[in-house]
Amino acid sequence: MNRIIDTETIETLVENTFEPAEKELLLLLGKARAARGLTLAEAALLLSIKEKEHTGYLFKAAEEVKLKLYGRRVVLFAPLYLSNFCSNGCLYCGFRSTNSDVARRALTPDEAAREAGTLEEMGFNRVLLVAGEDPRYGAEYIASCVRAVYEKTGMRIVHVNAPPMDASGLAVLKDAGAGVYQSFQETYHRPTYEKMHPWGPKKDFDRRLGVMDRAMEAGFEDVGIGPLLGLYDWRYDTLATIAHSGHLYEEFGAHAHTISIPRLRPAEGSELEWVPHTITDEELKKVVAVFRLAVPTAGIVVSTREAADLRGGLLHTGATQLSAASRTNPGGYGEGEGTLEQFSTSDHRDLPEVIASIISEGYLPSLCTTCYRVGRTGADFTKQTASGGMERFCQANALLTLKEYLADHARNGIKGDVERVIREGLGEIKDPALRKAVETRLRDIDEGRRDLYF
Ligand code: SAM
Ligand code: SF4
Repeated sequence: MNRIIDTETIETLVENTFEPAEKELLLLLGKARAARGLTLAEAALLLSIKEKEHTGYLFKAAEEVKLKLYGRRVVLFAPLYLSNFCSNGCLYCGFRSTNSDVARRALTPDEAAREAGTLEEMGFNRVLLVAGEDPRYGAEYIASCVRAVYEKTGMRIVHVNAPPMDASGLAVLKDAGAGVYQSFQETYHRPTYEKMHPWGPKKDFDRRLGVMDRAMEAGFEDVGIGPLLGLYDWRYDTLATIAHSGHLYEEFGAHAHTISIPRLRPAEGSELEWVPHTITDEELKKVVAVFRLAVPTAGIVVSTREAADLRGGLLHTGATQLSAASRTNPGGYGEGEGTLEQFSTSDHRDLPEVIASIISEGYLPSLCTTCYRVGRTGADFTKQTASGGMERFCQANALLTLKEYLADHARNGIKGDVERVIREGLGEIKDPALRKAVETRLRDIDEGRRDLYF
């Protein structure tokens, strides 16, 4: 058994779990609604649901838990690709080292800051820096880009999705001010992992699996994990991701801060001509719902790999974060699609369109970055969120960031919608003292003050 995940138990659960009868399901969902998480066996039962009516109950419970812990807010961010140099051979990726059709490019820290500036002009406050794996563009390089973005733009938080490194490299990233350290295991199934990653440092399954422990030891309190769905059986990788988060909780008192659900996409120059283990849209919704119920405090992140309609649907099964307006090539924001994308995206809408669609789903777009900046991170974040104490902050801060967006960026077409959700959101705040404080800050924003939060 691996120290981090018990693969045999997970395999047995995948093979031997059968759809629960209605009575058993309702009991289990009753427990899940308390937002205290689930055992792996319980998560496996929920993943095995097939009957339409029962799936509906599952989605409803997941949405309820999301509303209880986070309110209606949906956080928005954009990825910023720094470098597509890569020494790995991941069969599925357009940046793999043997793809000679890709023009290799690494932004300088100044160029990275310029890209972040373009995103800031659109209205984003948080950015996720992304890089391929190349010794020339390792921790020091990424850290200098993080610093340049903070120094030269008003971007409020910079997260990083970077290849696993040793603790000293991770400490360099942390010292530069990176918020969340994110890296996906791709698949937790060792034989599949080894097949998919034939060469390069990424070949080493255990080195990748252990990176979140090293990141936390190096000072990161918030880490982001996820499977690349489509490489192996999605039930197995979903359960393993839950187990990984459980391990982090046991070791460090904090669950994974985020769980991402990337699904395999076609990539020019990749070696995979078909998805080895398809996962349908309906199954993806189920995965999100089970993550929400099994790890209630984790942010669940949906990227533009998914189509607009499905992203809207996933908000109702527990997703809490969306990327928007994404480009997956270095320099993609300022210079367009000059270099090859890592994979093709499905949702090409700009930020105002994504904001409008979140509103039309009954949710509240948020450009908030507060928790990282006031130290509500790691074990503290897990504890506060689990106790239901975050929802009021999330709602209030979402309204303040929307008001800023309205003042500085909103296009005519969505102004009415944004004004309306701010009004409605304010009316929903039950605590009169908090409501009054939010009203005051909304007025302060009208008068030109910025970056206000609770
Ligand atoms: N290079 C680093 C690494 O692999 O850890 C980090 C950045 S990589 C550019 C970000 C993620 O993109 C990978 O972890 C993988 O999950 C995802 N990815 C790669 N190829 C993909 C594809 N064809 N479709 C969807 N996602 C893909
Ligand atoms: Fe390189 Fe990451 Fe792509 Fe693999 S997924 S080839 S490590 S950029």
